[in-house]
Amino acid sequence: MLSATANSIRTSAITLVETEHGRMRRKQRGIDKKDLQAAKKYGRRYKNRYCANGHATARYVYKGITYIVNEVTGEEITCYAKSLELEQVPLTESMRREYAIACRNIKENPHTWTSNSVLVVDTSGSMREADVWGTRNRLAAVWVSIALDFLATRLETGEGCVTDVISIVTLGESADVIFEEEPYSWVLYNKLVRVYSETLVKPRGHGPFLPSLEKAEKLLLRNPNASCAVSLTFLSDGRPSDAVFGAVGVGLGKDGSYEVIENKVGDLAKQFGRRLTFKAIAIGDYDDFDMLKRMVDAADDYGAHADFCLPSMTSSALGEVFTSVATSITSTQLELTDAQSKKQRQVRNILRESRSKAGQDILSVSDDEFWIYSLSRTTRKIYKEWMEPDSDGRNKTRHKYEKAELQHPDARYVAFAKCPFGEGAERFAYRFFELAADCKTIVGKPMVAKESRLILDVDSADELARKEFTAVFCKTQQLARRLAKDFNAKLKTSYRVDERTPTVDFLDCSIYELDDDNLGVLSVLVGDKLDHTKWQKWNSNNGFVEGMKKAPVFSEEGLRLAEINMTRVAHFEGDIIEEGSEEEEDSDEEKEGSDVLPGKNTVVFSPFEVAQAFSHFNYLASWRKRLVCDLQGVYDEANLLFSDPVIHYYNPRAYTCRKNVHGRTDHGKEGLHKFFDTHADHCGPLCRIVNRGFRRVARSEKK
Ligand SMILES: [Zn+2]
Repeated sequence: MLSATANSIRTSAITLVETEHGRMRRKQRGIDKKDLQAAKKYGRRYKNRYCANGHATARYVYKGITYIVNEVTGEEITCYAKSLELEQVPLTESMRREYAIACRNIKENPHTWTSNSVLVVDTSGSMREADVWGTRNRLAAVWVSIALDFLATRLETGEGCVTDVISIVTLGESADVIFEEEPYSWVLYNKLVRVYSETLVKPRGHGPFLPSLEKAEKLLLRNPNASCAVSLTFLSDGRPSDAVFGAVGVGLGKDGSYEVIENKVGDLAKQFGRRLTFKAIAIGDYDDFDMLKRMVDAADDYGAHADFCLPSMTSSALGEVFTSVATSITSTQLELTDAQSKKQRQVRNILRESRSKAGQDILSVSDDEFWIYSLSRTTRKIYKEWMEPDSDGRNKTRHKYEKAELQHPDARYVAFAKCPFGEGAERFAYRFFELAADCKTIVGKPMVAKESRLILDVDSADELARKEFTAVFCKTQQLARRLAKDFNAKLKTSYRVDERTPTVDFLDCSIYELDDDNLGVLSVLVGDKLDHTKWQKWNSNNGFVEGMKKAPVFSEEGLRLAEINMTRVAHFEGDIIEEGSEEEEDSDEEKEGSDVLPGKNTVVFSPFEVAQAFSHFNYLASWRKRLVCDLQGVYDEANLLFSDPVIHYYNPRAYTCRKNVHGRTDHGKEGLHKFFDTHADHCGPLCRIVNRGFRRVARSEKK
C-alpha cells in the first residue's frame, strides 16, 4: 500500500512543493529529441572543444536545445536542454526549529533512528561529461536525483522523516563526508540545491573506491541500533583507480585492490544481512563495470538486498534508481515494524554466513564454524497433537513435545552453524548436522535449524521467546499437515484427478534442545535441508502468485473491492456454466465414486494448479476461518513438499477479533481478501473438484 502512494506521489513530487510554497517550478527533465538536421540548418553555431580523438566539434543551439556535433563525422555527440533549475524551498521558523531538534536527537539518541543511508558519489574528473539529458553534467544529474527522487519524494509521502538519517561521501581525489548524519528535511534539500546550483563540488581527478568505502563503512557501523534500515548507494562512472591513486590501495595492484573492495562490501553485508540495501549505480557508457558488479555479488552472497543498475543517460532514469533505493528502505522499515504495536523490532545482532559457501556439500565439520553439542547435552523432541474430549465432552486439541532419538543411529553429536546462511523476513536459517562419534563426520541428511530473526520480546527472556516461536511454528506446520492430508484424500477420491497429479505435504520438523554452557538450554527447530536449487514459491501471504514479477500493491479502494468480491470467488458464485452442470456432475461422482478405472478421462494437474487449489481448499475445509498460503518448497515429481507456511486466521462469527493467531505473518482478514483477489485469475477446475461438497453448505446458509 505504501508503495502505491509512493507511485502516485512520485510523479508529482515537485508539484506539491509548488502548491505549498508557490515558488518551485518543475521543468521537464528529459527533452524530446529534435531534428538534428533542423538544428544544423536553422540553429546558431558556436565553436566547441575538441573530442578525445582530436575531432573538432561544434555546438548548435536551436529552440532552446543545444546539440554538440562531431564536425568530422557529422554525428551528434550529445544534446541537452537548458539545464534544470532547482530552487530552494522557503523555510519557516518552525521548519528550522524542527531541523535543529532533529539534529540533536540524531546525535543523542541513536536508538531512535529509523534508517541510516550513506550515498557514495563519484566526483572524479569523468563526472564532468555533459552527456546526461536535462543537466549540465553527470555529477549535476546525481545531485538533482538525490534531491528530488531520494529526498523530496520520501518527505512528501511521509515515508521519510527526521529520524531517517542520510550521509553523503564523495569519491574522488579526496573522500569527503559532505553531509554527515543529516535528518531527512527540507533544510537538507536546500543544501543539496545549493551544491547543485552553485557547483560547490567540482568533478576532478582520480576516483579510488577504497577511501570512500571506508568512510561509508564507518558511518554505517556507527549506529548499533538493530531495528534501523541500512542502505549504501555506490555511484560511479568507471572502474576504481585504487591501484594507482589513493592512500589505501596503492601497491595492491588491480586484482589486489579489487579483492579488498569486494571483501569490504561483503563484510558490511555479513553484519547487516537483509537489513542492508546495497545499490551500485553505474553511470555512462563505459563498458567495464566489473568492480561494481562484484561489489553487488559480494553483498548478495550475505543476503543483502543488492543490485546493480545502469540507468539510461537521462536525469529522470537516474532518478528512478534513487527512488528504488528509497522504496527498498521503506519496505525494510515495514518489515521491522510490528504489525500490531507499530513498534520497531530488533534484528538479532549476528554475522551471516556466505550463501555460496553454505550451499556446498561437506562431509565433516569443524568447531571454527559450528557449535558442537554431545548427545548428553542434546534432546530431540517431536511435536504431537491430538483431539481429546474435555470434561464437557467437547473435542479439544491437545499437544505435547515427545522425546525422540536422534535421527541417525550412529549420531553422537550435533553441529549447529555459528552463522546463518539464510535470512527471511521472519527467520534465520543455519546449517545443522548430526555427527558420528569422532565429533566431526556428518551422518544422515543435511538439515536446517530455524530461529526467529527478530528479538521477539525485548522484555522477556530470550529462551522464552524461542519457545514461543517454536510452538507457533509447530502448530502452524501441524495444522497445515492435517489439511494437506484431507486435501490428498480428496484428490484420491475424485475420478477426474489422474493419480499422477502431485500430492502435497509439509516438511516434518523436530525440536533440538541444546544445553549450552553460556546460554543455558536452547530450543531450535530443525528440518531437512531442501534442495535450494529447486526451491520455488507458488504463492505468498500478500496476494503474490507464482509468475508475478512482484507482490501486487493494494490501494485502500483495491482492498475494499477485494473484500466485496471474496465470497464470490471463494464459493464459485456467478459461475453460471458450472452451476448448470453441477448437479449432474455431482451425481456422476456419487454413481461412479472412486472406483472408476484410472486413466479414463482423467486430468493430470500441474504443481501450480495443485498449490493454488490447496490454498483455496483449506479455506473452505476450515469452515472459512483459515487459509494456508505462502506455499514454498520443492517439487519432486510426485509430491509438493512445502515448508514454512503462513496461516491467515479470521473468524467472522466470533465475538472478539483475535489477531496474529498464527504468528506475525498471519494477516487475518486482509490476508484472505488479498489471496482471493489474485486467486480469482487462477481459480481453475481443480479448485472446483476439491471444493465440492463445501459449496452446498455455503448455498444453504445463504437461503
Ligand atoms: Zn480456487
